[in-house]
Amino acid sequence: MDMQAAVRALLAGVGEDPGREGLDKTPERVEKALKFLTSGYHQDPKALINEALFTVSYDEMVIIKDIDVFSMCEHHLLPFYGKAHVAYIPNGKVVGLSKIPRLVDMFARRLQVQERLTTQIAEMIEETIQPRGVGVVIEAMHFCMIMRGVEKQNSVAVTSCMLGGFRERQPTREEFLSLIRFHGRPGV
Ligand SMILES: [Zn+2]
Repeated sequence: MDMQAAVRALLAGVGEDPGREGLDKTPERVEKALKFLTSGYHQDPKALINEALFTVSYDEMVIIKDIDVFSMCEHHLLPFYGKAHVAYIPNGKVVGLSKIPRLVDMFARRLQVQERLTTQIAEMIEETIQPRGVGVVIEAMHFCMIMRGVEKQNSVAVTSCMLGGFRERQPTREEFLSLIRFHGRPGV
């Protein structure tokens, strides 16, 4: 079954008439939107990082914080959104700063669970930049929790992945967490 036929089946499944005027073009739009929201499957994060690696003597923490994250939970096919904070300590190499938000997008534009998204970003940075350590924190709100009620409207899921120095050295981890001033709500 192609995607548009599948969307028509879904519409009929919820009791709608897929042929009525307002829904006529919906399967086409949904297919287009879904293909964009999952375009990360067809992009190569390693190539993205490798094309912008630079040799430097800088060895302090590099932090890119408040990166917008828009992804879709693989359990409900509903969005989750929030902020990602990424840090690493270079070991002779840095990557162009603009590549980090693009790396986040590449993994976010797939069907995800927040925990795996967090780990994939950290592990890709570890593998390609080979830093002394890397830390990733994501704070996000999940529509599958918000929209289904049960008094979960304001809950924020926080996930983190700490590797190398961020895992082994508590002061490093604390420096990262204080610099992103984590306060438990995305975008606030
Ligand atoms: Zn979900």
